[in-house]
Amino acid sequence: MNKALICAAALITASINSVWAKTTLIHAGQLLTAADAQVLAAQTIEVHKGKVKAIHNGYLSPADLGVDNASVVDLKQKFVLPGLVDLHVHLGFERDPKANPHRALMEVEADYALRSVNYLRSTVEAGFTTVRDLGGSNEVIFPLQRAVDSNTLVGPRIIAAGEAITPTGGHADMHGYRQEVLDAFAPRMGVCDGADDCARAVREMVKSGAQVIKVTATGGVLSNTKAGLNQQLTDAELGAIVDTAHNLGRPVTAHAHGTGGIAAALRAGVDSIEHGSYLDKDTIKLFKKTKAYLVPTLMAGVTVAKEVGNNPNMPAAIVEKIQTVAPVVKASFQQALNADINIAFGTDSGVSRHGDNAQEFVLLVNYGMTPRQALATSLEAAPKVLNMGQEVGKLTTGYYADVIAVDKSPLEDIGQLLSVDFVMKQGNIVKNHE
Ligand SMILES: [Zn+2]
Repeated sequence: MNKALICAAALITASINSVWAKTTLIHAGQLLTAADAQVLAAQTIEVHKGKVKAIHNGYLSPADLGVDNASVVDLKQKFVLPGLVDLHVHLGFERDPKANPHRALMEVEADYALRSVNYLRSTVEAGFTTVRDLGGSNEVIFPLQRAVDSNTLVGPRIIAAGEAITPTGGHADMHGYRQEVLDAFAPRMGVCDGADDCARAVREMVKSGAQVIKVTATGGVLSNTKAGLNQQLTDAELGAIVDTAHNLGRPVTAHAHGTGGIAAALRAGVDSIEHGSYLDKDTIKLFKKTKAYLVPTLMAGVTVAKEVGNNPNMPAAIVEKIQTVAPVVKASFQQALNADINIAFGTDSGVSRHGDNAQEFVLLVNYGMTPRQALATSLEAAPKVLNMGQEVGKLTTGYYADVIAVDKSPLEDIGQLLSVDFVMKQGNIVKNHE
C-alpha cells in the first residue's frame, strides 16, 4: 500500500470513529419502531456507539438530554423505520444480459469483487442494512464481508454462505463447457456426492467462514442444463448436510423448486426454503410441522421472465425452465399465504439489479399481503431466520442504529420503500437526501 492510500485509510477510520463515539439525535416526524408497532409522531431517536440508546417523545435537543457534542438529524418531514433485511442476495455478481456470455472464463475473482463495490453501495443506499448472501465464490464474498465489517467499503451487514452445496452436475455446479474447461474450475468446494462427501463439503464451507449453509436441493432455473427442477440431492445426502451443519451451529437454507425436493429438504430439517415454486398441500403441512420459513423471491421469477424476450443469448435449456416455472410462482405463494406458514423476505438480487430489492415488497402486496405483513417479512421474520431478532428489525434500546426514512407511510403505500431518502447503518449515515 502506498503512503497516500495509508493516509486516506487512516482518515476514513478516524472520521468513522469520531462519528461512532458521538451521540446522534434523529428527529423523526413519524416513526415505526417495529413491524407490529403503532406509528408515533414527533419522536427523537438517541443513537450512541452504533446502537439505539433510547426513543424519546417529542423533539429533544442535545441540551435537553445533557449530551455535549451531539449532532441532530432533521427527519421531521419524513417517515422513519428500521433498516430493511434481505435474506437472499448474491453480492458477488449481477446478471447482465448484454455481458459477454463467456465472462466467467475470462475474468478472475478480483474483477467480480471490484464490480461488487457498487452493488454493496446500491444495496445499502436502497435501505437494506442487513443481507444474507446465498452463494457465490468464497474468494469474492468473504473478502467483501471483511471489507464492510472493517469500514473499508460502504455496504450492508453481510451474513454469508459462500459456495452452495450441490451434487455433481447439480444447479450450483458449472455447466455448458467441454470437460477440460470445467476441470479448470474443479475441484469446487461445494460439490459433493454421497452422504459422507456432503458432510465433508459442509465442514469445508464452515472452515472457510460460512455462517449459513446454502444447499441446492433441486434443479434451478438459471443453470445451463436440461436437468429440470426436481430433487437433485438424495434424502441421505440432505440428511447428512443438515445434521453436519446443525452440529456445527450453522442453519441450512435449501434452494428448492420441485415439490419432491421441497418435501425432502423439509423432512431433512432445513431451516428455510428459497423459492418454493411448486408447493402443494403436503409441503404446506410440512412447513407447518417444521416451522421452517419460506423465502419466496418473487422478484427472481418476474426478472427472468422479462429477460427471456430480450436476451437472444439465453441458452435453450434456461428458456425452457423459465417458461415452465414463471407462471406457477404466484399461485404457489398465495397458497403459502393462505395457509399462514412462516414467510420471510428475500429477493435473489444479482438475478435482478442490486438496489432494486424493495420491488419485492411491491410484489408481495400485489400478490395478496397487506403492507404491514410485507414489512414484517423483512423486519420480523428475516431477523428471526438470521438469529438476529434481538439486534436488527426494530428501533428499540440495544438494537443496531439501522435507520431509514421515506416521504410517506409505507403502511399506506408500500411503493414508498422504492425511494429511500435517508440511511443510517450502525450509527453511520450512509445516505442523506433530506
Ligand atoms: Zn439465489
